[in-house]
Amino acid sequence: MKNLIRSFLYEINKYIYSGNQFYCNICNKYYRKFFTAGENRRPNARCPGCGAFERHRLMMYFLKDKTDFFSDNLSVLDIAPLQTFHKLFSKMENINYISIDMKLPYVTKRADLTNLPFKDESFDCIICYHVLEHIIDDNNAIREMYRVLKKGGWAIIQSPFDNSLEYSFERQDIITKAERKKFYGQDDHVRIYGRDLIKRIEFSGFVVKEDDFIKKFSDKEIIKFALDKEEIINYCIKP
Ligand SMILES: [Zn+2]
Repeated sequence: MKNLIRSFLYEINKYIYSGNQFYCNICNKYYRKFFTAGENRRPNARCPGCGAFERHRLMMYFLKDKTDFFSDNLSVLDIAPLQTFHKLFSKMENINYISIDMKLPYVTKRADLTNLPFKDESFDCIICYHVLEHIIDDNNAIREMYRVLKKGGWAIIQSPFDNSLEYSFERQDIITKAERKKFYGQDDHVRIYGRDLIKRIEFSGFVVKEDDFIKKFSDKEIIKFALDKEEIINYCIKP
């Protein structure tokens, strides 16, 4: 029901907020404003017509420009996707799309990322956006993604991280929501990743390319498309 109401609100917002200041490449519409969003209240972050954030728009550009996502026949595993992505990708004829989550009601399958119900080498690509920072056993989650990915397949594994930290910060005695909010900045996060995030991903066998794809956009485009000019995409290959 909640999701139906949300979809309905998006449709209304598409009219209320239509304009020409900003462009969302996911719902393919122009708006006069985007919503402020996130714990750090980022202005112009969230699309009123589809709920996408900066990272989702960059991902969409990346998938179109740098991958065969929209042309090849691929089996795709999407972890806890935005509802908009689930809807969009489910309809694509060239991909066999499976989305998973423990709670989200609209996903294809209820599943635990640390114990995936799929055979080895089942997928050509995996999308995992802002998930690992919620998972205590993130090493196992990364290992599972590696296991179910085919050789030569790719994954995009993004998590927020603090560039000023050499090592990720996590403590086993921080368990309440209030403590997590205080130490990790969000009450459902279980750590703050530092610059060792890439090493953690590589530990399972992935080869990670930190792609500065964002640099192809001009300052003007970054504002118009409401992107994060600091975002680096972790494009991970299973060799
Ligand atoms: Zn949108």
